[in-house]
Amino acid sequence: MTIQPDDARQASLGYTAILRRYLGPQWRRVTLLALLLVAGIGLQLAIPQILRAFIDAATSRAAIGQISQLGVVFLGIAVAGQLIAIGEVYVAESLGQATVNELRADLLRHCLGLDLGFHYRRTPGELIERVDGDVANLANFFSRFAVQIVGNAILLIGILALLFGVSRTIGAAISAVTLVAVVVLIRLRDAGVPRMTAARQASAELFGFLEERLVGTEDLRASGAVAHTLRRLAERSEKVFRAERFAAFVSAATGFSANLFLALITVVGLALSGLAFYRREISIGSVYLVFSYTQILSRPLEQMSRQIQDLQRAMASLNRILQLFSTRSQLNPGGRLRFPGGPLSVELENVTFGYSPDELVLRGLCLSLRPGEVLGLLGRTGSGKTTIARLIARFYDPLDGEIRVGGIDLGNASTKEIRKRIGIVTQEIHLFHATVRDNLTLFDPIISDEQIVAVLKDLGLWTWCQSLPGGLNARLSPDGGGLSAGEAQLLAFARVFLRAPGLVILDEASSRLDPATERQIEHALDRLLIGRTAIVIAHRLTTVERAETIAILEGGEIREFGARLDLARDPSSRFARLRRVGLEEVLV
Ligand code: ATP
Ligand code: MG
Repeated sequence: MTIQPDDARQASLGYTAILRRYLGPQWRRVTLLALLLVAGIGLQLAIPQILRAFIDAATSRAAIGQISQLGVVFLGIAVAGQLIAIGEVYVAESLGQATVNELRADLLRHCLGLDLGFHYRRTPGELIERVDGDVANLANFFSRFAVQIVGNAILLIGILALLFGVSRTIGAAISAVTLVAVVVLIRLRDAGVPRMTAARQASAELFGFLEERLVGTEDLRASGAVAHTLRRLAERSEKVFRAERFAAFVSAATGFSANLFLALITVVGLALSGLAFYRREISIGSVYLVFSYTQILSRPLEQMSRQIQDLQRAMASLNRILQLFSTRSQLNPGGRLRFPGGPLSVELENVTFGYSPDELVLRGLCLSLRPGEVLGLLGRTGSGKTTIARLIARFYDPLDGEIRVGGIDLGNASTKEIRKRIGIVTQEIHLFHATVRDNLTLFDPIISDEQIVAVLKDLGLWTWCQSLPGGLNARLSPDGGGLSAGEAQLLAFARVFLRAPGLVILDEASSRLDPATERQIEHALDRLLIGRTAIVIAHRLTTVERAETIAILEGGEIREFGARLDLARDPSSRFARLRRVGLEEVLV
């Protein structure tokens, strides 16, 4: 479900909910900020009053003591005003950062919980722009903005009330012009929000594009696609250019209008108060008072127009954040059932699945494994082997049919249980910018070093780990950090091993490994599979030789299924043919 821009009620519900959720716990800071603001406004309004008294005292030749007293009061107010302003900045900034950190954490949690389909549809760069860029835009909104716009409204009303006090005509005339100004500025704001949203979207896309290309630098250079990339960059930049220019123009229009109205207000104020002075209705001090109030009026008017700009930006970001929050995971929430202990059985019954419903990858697929059985899953590239692994690990739900693990429908098992008891080693192993230890435990502090060392020794990785500078503390990085594909895969084995799952799905990388690493992997695999049910998606004959059962996937169905030895003995079987011609040649 996405927020419809025209569904204002729903959107404003979202806004208030967000304000309540993030500003609520900060009520102390909000209150303090409001108090500082009101005090600051009071002082601002007092200054012209003192100046009027000063001018009137000077022109009526009052005693020098009275005049210098006014000077001291003026100075005191000016100093207090500045102190309050400093306090305001401090409180506002703390408020903004505290709320925004909270929001960012919530967004990240939300994104990490979304189904993989969501992540495939978006580049990481786009998400970064959302989780960081949009959120940072809101910092201003949460801190100064929400309180300031209220403050400016109070200031505006205060000034108008004081002007009424001087003369009703002047008060009424300036109020009328101000009212028109506020209405026009708000209209301009409404025109600005969609432009700003478009500009932010364009820049998020640019971000995503850059991120994707930079990650793929090696491939791009190798395939000579640099020129093409630059051309695409130019296209995206052009889009950002247009969107930003238009958005900036609409925003600037609000600034221009504010200035125009200000000039008008000044002229009206001077003309009317000059006339009143000429008729001896008010003193020269009061003429000055009216003039300085019209000038102070410039502050809320001009600030409000700038804040309206900020508001436009914040609303655009908020809209997109609400949209992200309202994206529900396509996975059903999952149940609470737990799997039985030990190796787990697996049953796929009439499973149909496609990444989009009109392009099925699996059609009514059936498969069943006893606890502890090792299945070798073969099939051409693109036949859906990885897809089966993703379904069993419940990254996606099947469109039709049922998947049972340990006799329990996956949809009824708790997500935590699935992550704990089903271990999966994927074709692409992602390493984090972190130590070997953290890469193995995936930042789980409960796993002790002894456990890690035992697993590494078990897998024959301990000597390798010791050879790294710093051993377990050696730092790895996402680009492989000097690890070969084989070593990365061994690390992934160790990851799964540490969690002691009852079902292991191994999606073997199709890259060829050097004989030494290959031997190491073979050894590690032997250890990994003891006492576990396993689905081994194999690209190498040696790996398949380990399986008791073989399944060959073709056209979204299992085309051949049986005990490996039986199939190998039957010369007419596909498996026997694969073995004759060599698995690699046929499958890879
Ligand atoms: P390989 O041996 O190359 O690893 P595979 O048997 O694992 O191949 P899958 O990755 O399961 O094949 O892909 C099966 C089909 O689904 C392919 O046609 C592929 O293009 C498509 N596919 C895979 N992942 C996605 C995805 N995230 N979104 C859309 N389509 C996908
Ligand atoms: Mg695959």
